Amino acid sequence: MHPLMMGSLSWIEYQQRLQEENLVVLLPCGALEQHGPHLPLGTDALLSTAIAQGVAEQINGVVAPVISYGYKSQPKSGGGQSFAGTTSLDGTSLIQVVRDVLRELARQGAARIVVVNGHYENQWFLTEGIELAIREVGGADHLRVMRLEYWDFLTDDILNCVFPDGFPGFALEHAAVMETSLMAHYHPKLVRLDRIPDVPPVNFPPYDTFPQRSEWVPASGVLSSAKAASAEKGELMADHVVKGIAAAIQTEFQLSLQPPSSHQPAASL
Ligand code: ZN
Ligand code: MN
Repeated sequence: MHPLMMGSLSWIEYQQRLQEENLVVLLPCGALEQHGPHLPLGTDALLSTAIAQGVAEQINGVVAPVISYGYKSQPKSGGGQSFAGTTSLDGTSLIQVVRDVLRELARQGAARIVVVNGHYENQWFLTEGIELAIREVGGADHLRVMRLEYWDFLTDDILNCVFPDGFPGFALEHAAVMETSLMAHYHPKLVRLDRIPDVPPVNFPPYDTFPQRSEWVPASGVLSSAKAASAEKGELMADHVVKGIAAAIQTEFQLSLQPPSSHQPAASL
């Protein structure tokens, strides 16, 4: 049981948290999607949740249960829909789930919400769900939302450390060094290190076709090699991303730093 996780709180405990000034609720969003032979189907949901939890610890926020299903996997960013286990929502369904959850959270008094996205293909559907929720609850007086992809908080100096041979781009980073390293850091028992395929980055054409071309995608489902992944790289990225997101939330929502009292350093003067 973690006091920051909304699903672990009683309604009375959550009601008390809602009365805190400037409470921030984080909503992680993932997908159920193949992540190669070495990572679990729930990787995007697990990572967005872990990062949201790390951020909540820094800003004394609350983490709502993750939206575990995401928009359809695309061949060039997630391997596409042809793999067993890749189980996806239509765009309109995801928009409505996000709209409904945000509206419900806002109706009960959560006026500052951060949507932490962990699945590349979700982005515009989350955006639309947020827009509709704000319109439905009557505007910014009732609900303000930040939406972010956690990997956008990786700065060039961190990327240079993690990818000394050059960064292939976040689309090809599916089940590769970034996600595998973060999983090795947060969920080491769920990573099968001995099953990481060593493959060159896939060379996709600069367009998509529909129905999806499953033959564009390597049989392993991995779009660039994860061989260089490590828990140490995962920790480096996780720390940087969590601190960056916490700082951005404090700026956007103008929070004063309020770490949990047990973490408060002794005054030095
Ligand atoms: Zn992923
Ligand atoms: Mn994904």
